Amino acid sequence: MSDFIYQSLPGRVIFGAGKLAETRAEVQRLGIAQALVISTPQQRDLAIQVQALLGDIAVGIYDRAVMHVPVETVADVMRVVDELQVDGCVAIGGGSTVGLAKAIALKTALPIVTIPTTYAGSEMTPVWGMTRDGIKTTGRDISVLPKTVIYDPQLTVSLPAFISGPSGMNAIAHCVEGLYSQNQNPITSLMAEEGIRALRLSLPEVVRHPEDLNARSQALYGAWLAGSVLGSVGMAIHHKLCHTLGGSFNLPHAEVHTVMIPQATWFNRAHAPQAMQAIGRALGVAAQDAAAGLYDLALAINAPVALKDIGMREQDLDKAAEIATTNPYYNPRPVDRAAVRELLERAFQGIRPGE
Ligand code: NAD
Repeated sequence: MSDFIYQSLPGRVIFGAGKLAETRAEVQRLGIAQALVISTPQQRDLAIQVQALLGDIAVGIYDRAVMHVPVETVADVMRVVDELQVDGCVAIGGGSTVGLAKAIALKTALPIVTIPTTYAGSEMTPVWGMTRDGIKTTGRDISVLPKTVIYDPQLTVSLPAFISGPSGMNAIAHCVEGLYSQNQNPITSLMAEEGIRALRLSLPEVVRHPEDLNARSQALYGAWLAGSVLGSVGMAIHHKLCHTLGGSFNLPHAEVHTVMIPQATWFNRAHAPQAMQAIGRALGVAAQDAAAGLYDLALAINAPVALKDIGMREQDLDKAAEIATTNPYYNPRPVDRAAVRELLERAFQGIRPGE
């Protein structure tokens, strides 16, 4: 067995259908007396529900969270935080909402409670991100890690199939890269393999029957595991490519992850044999079919498999390869521009790994 370092992160997780009802008790447990509830405009109804549960602890709702945390939104919410003398936040929604709460925590060190309604996993990580003039800066700071996360699968029932599928593949991507991460360790690898298994078993059911609470619970459990992996170990070429494609070419976050993860897995196949075995086991396929298994899963849940179908332009592939190979992250297979350009070409066309 190889040597390893495992650093666990603090945080409390409450998991189960109906656990939204525990929000007030959890917020009180943290000593929060003036809570701001945060959501996107689309999830305002959920924010109103949380406000009602919090009663006199809620001092307001901020429902203007948007994708990628623009600095203008952060400045706007900080005015509200100061004005209402907020001493803690409750964020209900996906990664965009959690991201805004993290930006508040970064500036104020106020505690956050998050109630995730997608499978993005941000709630389990100490990673923050903010966008200025179209450029997203990210960093790690333990003060942005939510103090409590309430996973209530009932809240994910309204997540449409076309968002649920890619969101689940986004979570799988955290698990896959965690398995060949530079600082992977036996604990995170257990979580990653189990996360892929839980999502592989549940996502087809979630997409077919979005109201199936059992499948929703299993998918959210997988997303929790995936977020924990993302929060604990470094990511590799897949995440670098997704940041490039999302950040510089404005492609949709979860869909980019969905298209790229089979291709990145294929790219690394000969350099991460143990990871391929774990992915294969979790998907129920042979190790050599790990990448194709991810591609087939995306197809089975009607998720995209080609960059050309999610807004990428062929003439931008060279530039994407250049950006993605400048200051590359660690990757088990050495990263060179020609090979990454080829990977991007396969992703653009949506070619099944191995064909
Ligand atoms: P998102 O929060 O924008 O949500 C995606 C879509 O789902 C939105 O249209 C939203 O309105 C809808 N939605 C959310 N909950 C719903 C519900 N219950 N019912 C119906 N619709 C619902 O996006 P996301 O994919 O959750 O997160 C992506 C963002 O999170 C990106 O900005 C990404 O960079 C960030 N992220 C950060 C980290 C981190 O560790 N910092 C990790 C993962 C993702």
